[in-house]
Amino acid sequence: MVELGDERVLYAFDRAAEPALTVASGETVRIRTKDCFGNQVQTPEDVLDEIDWDRINPATGPIFVEGAVPGGALKVEIQAIEFDGQTASCTGEGEGVCGDCFNAWSTKLCSIEGDHLVWDERLSIPLRPMIGVIGVAPAGEPVNCGTPGSHGGNMDNTAITAGATLYFPVAVEGALFGLGDMHAVMGDGEVSVSGAEAAGHATVKLTALPELSLVDPIIENETHLGIIASAESLDAAADRAVHEMVDLIHERTGRGKDEIIMLMSLVADVQVCQMVDPEKTVRFMVPKYVLEALDFQLL
Ligand code: CA
Ligand code: ZN
Repeated sequence: MVELGDERVLYAFDRAAEPALTVASGETVRIRTKDCFGNQVQTPEDVLDEIDWDRINPATGPIFVEGAVPGGALKVEIQAIEFDGQTASCTGEGEGVCGDCFNAWSTKLCSIEGDHLVWDERLSIPLRPMIGVIGVAPAGEPVNCGTPGSHGGNMDNTAITAGATLYFPVAVEGALFGLGDMHAVMGDGEVSVSGAEAAGHATVKLTALPELSLVDPIIENETHLGIIASAESLDAAADRAVHEMVDLIHERTGRGKDEIIMLMSLVADVQVCQMVDPEKTVRFMVPKYVLEALDFQLL
């Protein structure tokens, strides 16, 4: 296993970025990450009006994965997520779903004790560790780390947790992978514009899959396989994810799209990732027992 510190971060996924690390396909990397505020909110006095907004949403990397080629995919197996002891949450004017209610930033710091986050003396919340920003360099212009897209990025998806595997469409040689913005706990939607933001470490295994061609990221866990899609609205993102899943199953099984969508309507779930970033993100999750009965194979 290789260790990567957080000295080198990216604020945009960028095909022209210089790699922070080069690894062979199949290597496991334990990556140190800053929180989404660039670790600038450490005490109740650290107000968001005064932090450096050019140092927001850092992703550690990029990592050049040997064998990853444009038109292929990068497989990312998330093996572990570890946090430092403190989290920061925020909301503010124009931010999140209730941004119309505020005219200043608010922040709240919480401590992590064992497998719970301590909100106050009466309320402890079970941790739900996840990675907010994770992705590869896009084909065209750089995409800032606050925005999700086909390259991944700020998807803020609670299903991106230890035990999950992601598949990203690769646009440049080496993929130029990065991750950051980990959350100790977050609800689907991320309605305030933040989760319980925490610095820590993520351990991932990175494998080049030159033969797999994808449009948007795919997520797989023990029970489900899903498409993650981002668009200007939740409706548009859901539409995109469902269409892509129907296409994916049609291409791999030969079943009619009419049969597939009727079946999806019975068994698959449209789930909100986040509704507060510049593009909104949805995942469409299909149970794997259904895919197995169709003889579906991703690879
Ligand atoms: Ca985020
Ligand atoms: Zn975050």
